[in-house]
Amino acid sequence: MKASGFNYVKLPKRAVAYYKNGAWGKPHLTRKATIDLSESAGVLQYAQSVFEGMKIYRTKDNRIVCFRPELNFLRLNDSCERMMIPTLKKEDFFECLNLLAKANLKYIPESSDGGSLYIRPFVFGSSAVLGLKSSDEFEFRMFGSPVGPYFQGKAEGLALRVTDYDRAAPHGTGHIKASLNYAMSLYPVSEAHRLGFAENVYLDAATRTYIEETGGANIIFVDKNGTVVTPKSESILPSITRRSILELCEKVLGIKTEERKIKVDELGDFVECGLCGTAAVISPVASILNGETKIEYKENGAIQKIRKALTDIQKGEAEDTLNWLYEIKQ
Ligand SMILES: *Cc1c(COP(=O)(O)O)cnc(C)c1O
Repeated sequence: MKASGFNYVKLPKRAVAYYKNGAWGKPHLTRKATIDLSESAGVLQYAQSVFEGMKIYRTKDNRIVCFRPELNFLRLNDSCERMMIPTLKKEDFFECLNLLAKANLKYIPESSDGGSLYIRPFVFGSSAVLGLKSSDEFEFRMFGSPVGPYFQGKAEGLALRVTDYDRAAPHGTGHIKASLNYAMSLYPVSEAHRLGFAENVYLDAATRTYIEETGGANIIFVDKNGTVVTPKSESILPSITRRSILELCEKVLGIKTEERKIKVDELGDFVECGLCGTAAVISPVASILNGETKIEYKENGAIQKIRKALTDIQKGEAEDTLNWLYEIKQ
């Protein structure tokens, strides 16, 4: 199966589990791709909903592997806690992953042409609420969709802009994958697209001095010394891709890394820039417009090298020395 673009494709089966009377029920597969809900469900009235995104790859030797899913599991539970959603049991999360992958094997694209099966786990409040309170029933679902690259046809690199909108408050929900963070970014991102930019770069909301990230991907820079520099902030979503890039640089590639506050005024000091995330992988950035100033970046080899090292592990083309792949036994 070939996949292009990043769109929802309805596969035959998905995994589901229900939380009722204070406990999660047994996960199982269902063909039903729609959900019947109370009109006053917590997810509909107060956006009580969190999600994750991870990828399954079909390697050259036909193994089915998922990239670091235990980190998505842990992050999903962090998101659940903050949103008053009951956390999941690890065995249930992994059972869903295995059930889902095995039920949709023929829809897992060949990773050699950049394809993968994107996995979307999510949990939401399903019972009725009227006053502001948490639902007491919840639904967990995990579906898959075959995907190609997220940012398409931008081999020369992405054009970004620093936006006046804010993404996350200092003690808010920017550090978790709560659906509400993405609803509020739809307006700014559609404005960015209309003006010819692929994404918005958000600044810290309190002082508007420091770089945070984009609406759906973390940002990484390479400085003149070849050091990979990433922004440090409590309101950034802790990207598993970024974490993996930093580990790869330090442990495998011999590239120095630094996580620190990055001033928006420093944008012009870097030589390379990229966006990273499960969907974006590592997409090179060609320019960032900051007010009237356009800062341009050229590919200088570093981001390309990191991208290859990461994707070779994911595609099973390089040895998984850091033990990042979770194999689904067929
Ligand atoms: C999901 C997400 C990322 C990327 O995280 P990964 O774990 O690498 O997929 C980055 N920023 C935001 C805002 C996100 O929602």
